[in-house]
Amino acid sequence: MKKAFEINDLVRDNVKDLEPYSSARDEYTSTVDEMVFLDANENPNENGLNRYPDPHQRRLKSLLAAQKGVDESQILFGNGSDEVLDLIFRAFCEPKVDNVITLPPTYGMYKVLAATNGIACREVLLNNEFQPDTNKILKIADAQSKLLLMCSPNNPTGNSFEANRIERLLTDFRGLVVIDEAYIDFSTNQSWVKNLYRYPNLIVTQTLSKAYGMAGIRLGICFASEKIISILKKIKPPYNVNALTQIKAFEGLSDQDLVTRQVNEILAERGKMTLALEEIPFAKHIYSSDANFILLKVDDGNLRYNQLLKRGVVVRNRSSQPMCDNTLRITIGTPKENKKMIQALKELK
Ligand code: PMP
Repeated sequence: MKKAFEINDLVRDNVKDLEPYSSARDEYTSTVDEMVFLDANENPNENGLNRYPDPHQRRLKSLLAAQKGVDESQILFGNGSDEVLDLIFRAFCEPKVDNVITLPPTYGMYKVLAATNGIACREVLLNNEFQPDTNKILKIADAQSKLLLMCSPNNPTGNSFEANRIERLLTDFRGLVVIDEAYIDFSTNQSWVKNLYRYPNLIVTQTLSKAYGMAGIRLGICFASEKIISILKKIKPPYNVNALTQIKAFEGLSDQDLVTRQVNEILAERGKMTLALEEIPFAKHIYSSDANFILLKVDDGNLRYNQLLKRGVVVRNRSSQPMCDNTLRITIGTPKENKKMIQALKELK
């Protein structure tokens, strides 16, 4: 019989043993109305930002928890989801001992984070439909495989992973399954956040950088069990989400109508762009997308990339990625930007 999942088996010993930093703002409790704060070596002159931000981001967490139907204890924020992913590596992966599994072609930061943290990266290519090859993944995994990093909808391919494959991996992979949902708001598929209660080894990451139009504030989100979040909290820098970010993120999350409107506009533009790309003679394949970008296969990726650059249009050349020969990843811009891009493509010889 399979041993029940126990998160403590996966945590690094140094993390298990460490006493988290207790910040000045962790220690006080408000007892009287007029508090005098002489505890954090701040500059006392009020300018709206002279105080350290709330290390627990309570206001933001309470809003997001209500929106997503999770408990506040199941949320951790980071300086972008890149920081959240780095915290996950540092909490669970022992340098030079552990490994993680990634599924190329995918988001390049997983490999960089693995290298930064001294963790071996075992790569299992997606299959020809850009779906995870569950058998190969489970075969290559061993007791040292702490994380399986999946991106759905996937960057740069744009497709979502089939639920039955993800379920099989959640059930049979013995480490933590991280599902990066940076692009989930552009997809008709449900977020895996709804399944946190079913899978103790599930971590879902999201971000305000895409659908919420707030890449500049750097707010990444991690959803997981209370136990996993409490481990990540031990190692998170106390003030990793700055005061301005907390304010703007609250505003962004509060205006769901704006997000819905903008997402719908982007999706309509994605549809138009797909149709326009079909008319381009050197477009060999337009991959269907659940995200705010389209992966396009052309006759010669490097040539077309450089030709577009000369016409003032910057796309992402993904031709060097496995299974992505001669591909360009094109973000959906404003109607005007998209027109300019299509016009430039039409002019190319
Ligand atoms: N995950 C994926 C799949 C991404 O494409 C990106 C950004 N390109 C990120 C995470 C990083 O997002 P953030 O801005 O939240 O760090």
